[in-house]
Order: sequence, then C-alpha cells, then structure tokens
Amino acid sequence: MFDRASVVTPGGVNSPVRAFRAVGGTPRFMVSGTGPYLTDADGREYVDLVCSWGPMILGHSHPEVIAAVHEAVSRGTSFGTPGEGEVALAEEIVARIEPVEQVRLVSSGTEATMSAIRLARGFTGRAKVVKFAGCYHGHVDALLAAAGSGLATFGLPDTPGVTGATAGDTVVLPYNDLDAVRAAFAAHPGAIACVITEASPGNMGVVPPADGFNAGLKELCAANGALYISDEVMTGFRTSKAGWYGVDGVRPDLMTFGKVMGGGFPAAAFGGRGDVMAHLAPAGPVYQAGTLSGNPVATAAGLAQLRLLDDAAYAKIDAVSAELRSLVGDALTKEGVAHTVSAASNMFSVFFTDEPVRDYDDAKKQDVFRFTAFFHAMLERGVYLPPSAFESWFVSTAHDERAIERIAAALPAAARAAAEATA
Ligand code: PLP
Repeated sequence: MFDRASVVTPGGVNSPVRAFRAVGGTPRFMVSGTGPYLTDADGREYVDLVCSWGPMILGHSHPEVIAAVHEAVSRGTSFGTPGEGEVALAEEIVARIEPVEQVRLVSSGTEATMSAIRLARGFTGRAKVVKFAGCYHGHVDALLAAAGSGLATFGLPDTPGVTGATAGDTVVLPYNDLDAVRAAFAAHPGAIACVITEASPGNMGVVPPADGFNAGLKELCAANGALYISDEVMTGFRTSKAGWYGVDGVRPDLMTFGKVMGGGFPAAAFGGRGDVMAHLAPAGPVYQAGTLSGNPVATAAGLAQLRLLDDAAYAKIDAVSAELRSLVGDALTKEGVAHTVSAASNMFSVFFTDEPVRDYDDAKKQDVFRFTAFFHAMLERGVYLPPSAFESWFVSTAHDERAIERIAAALPAAARAAAEATA
C-alpha cells in the first residue's frame, strides 16, 4: 500500500509525520479502529496512543458518536446553508468556555489560526504577529516561521514557498521567556497585532507553560494594545472540560479549537471576545468563509462527542494518563535510561534526557535515537506511539485495563532497546 501511495502522493502520505521519516520504517496503513485499538492492513492490532493526534478522546468508533453520524448522514451531507447542528455545536463551545462569547466554525485547525490572525490584524490595524519557537499552529504561511532563538528574531521562512514578505511580519521568540516578549513589544511599539501561543504546547513534545507565563503574556498584550490568542486546537476539550483555559484560567482575547470538537471529522473553530468577533464578515469587514464550514455531519459528530465528555470522562482520561506515565517512567528508570516524562494535565510525552525541558532548544537536546529504538520496540509489540519524539501521546476514555496491560507488557523490552540504542 505504501508503494502504491508513493506513486500517486508525495512521500506516500497526506500529512508528513505519518510517513515515519523521523523514526524510519514503513508506516502502518490502518483499516479500522475500535475503542483503544487500531487494526492495520495486515490484520495486526495496536493499542493506539496517538488517537488521530488528539481527536479520538472517546476511542475509535464510539457507538453514540457513530449513531449521531449515521443519523446526520441520513438527512444529507452538506447544504451550504445555515443549519441547527452548527448552532448547537457553537452553543456547546460557548457554554463550556467562558471567554468565548462568539465562535465561527471552520474545517481545520490551520484555518482556525489563520483566520484568528487575520481577525487580530484587522481588529488592531497592526501587522506583526508574535509566535514561539516550537509552537505549531498548522501550516499557515505566516506561522511556519521558527527562526533561531534570541530576542525578537525576525521570522525567516521555515519552508520554501513561504516568502520573506509573508514571514517578515512574524516575530519568533523562545518559549517560556517573558523577557523576550517584553523586549519584542519595546522593539516594535504599536506594531504587534497579537501574540499567539499554544495554550500548553504539545508540538515540541509536551512542554507546559511555566507558572505565570500565560498570565504574563495576557498582561503584556493588554498593556500594549495587542490581542492574546490561545491556540487550543490540541488542548481544547482535552486537558479539561474547558481545555487549558479550565486549567489556568487565563482569559484570552481569541481562542482556536479543532481536533476533539470534530469527533474525528473536519471541524474546527475560532472565537472569543464579542467585540473582536463582531469584526468578522458579514457582521464586520474582516472576510472569512468556507464551503464546508459547519458541515452537518461533522458538527453532529463533534456535538455527540462533546456531550459525552463530562467530569467522569475527564477523570478517567486523567487516571489512564497518570498510570501510563508512571509505567513508562518506571520501565525507563529500571533500564537506567535518562528521561523526563513531561505532562500537562492528561497530555504527556517522554523526553530522552534528564535535563529540564522548558523550550524548543531544550527539547532538541534529547537523545532522539533512543526514542527511535523505543518506538520500534513498542510498535513490534503492538503499541502505536506517535512516530516522533516531538509529539504528545494521547489517551482516551476507551483505554481500559486490558489495553494498559498490553502497553505494560511491551515496556520492559522497549526500555531495554532505548538503553542499548546507539547514536
Ligand atoms: N494548532 C495546534 C496547536 C495543533 O496542534 C495543530 C495540529 O496539530 C494545528 C493548530 C493545526 O490543525 P490542523 O492539523 O487541523 O490544521
């Protein structure tokens, strides 16, 4: 299948990390998913710790989500008109996340952050955007800049195809460094439209914000007339009922969502302060649109999933995460492998270093070759981890004792493989 895919699709995949290039080997083609398990085209079953990179928080093929999808599909798949499903999903988001007074639905996290930034620029009449190295906000041109650390580095495009003109208004700063943010505001007075940050980063591995970092960002934005955008595409509806906002309570001006809120379908959103959202077309002048935005099948799946995510569901996910973190940590300790299990609520990842990881530069200092050995040993034993040392691991309410036992059974050999790996 990978050979077939490689003929008709660049690199054989529709999203680069799926290709296993960071870890080597052949990506598994999955044909079905049930609860915490995925089954590949060769009939092998894996305990899934990727959960579609976050969305499948109830596990695969949850009967109530599937039923909601069937019901929606039976009434038609897209109308290009307003519909009740999108209103109900928007109401659910607004009810859960207090800073969100209004929300606009889109189809991907990339669209959400792209649109939020456009809105911030339109609202403030300013051009510059501050982002942090190691934070991923989708493949928005202006946000694919992650130039080296240092104070107020002007963004350099990280990929061919993003022009200097597009990235030139992006200021990339080291994560968890409020002094760098202060310096950027001083260097660009009246020019910064917004600061965008992952509410708690999961795209350089899991690196939580230091105490007071998000609050400091909010304060600096308010003092300088810029908007504070919290990207909750990954953390939203996962790290608590109200996402990371439910954890740290720092009130963003705008927020972005995706993943969990789509129930495995392409649905995402951005929202926030009513006066800012009022600038969006057709209420205001900032244009934004989408043929499939608020799609009835996607919104039905997302709504069904969110309605099942009550306090008990989060308690379950938190408990599974805590158990796995301690199993992984114990296995690596036993084999003498330097590591840090880094967690933000129920999101976690393992850095193969025992030095503290506070930003992207720290994250890059880990022994990636040990992760590679660990990953393949787990895969061989039927545990599907993210195929990169710089990604969060995700669990679901469906990860039961049997699934955890299978992971526990795979860990000793994987830890040994990590210990024996050479650079
Ligand atoms: N923002 C964050 C924090 C993400 O983790 C991602 C995707 O992983 C995105 C934005 C982009 O979302 P999408 O892949 O749906 O475009």
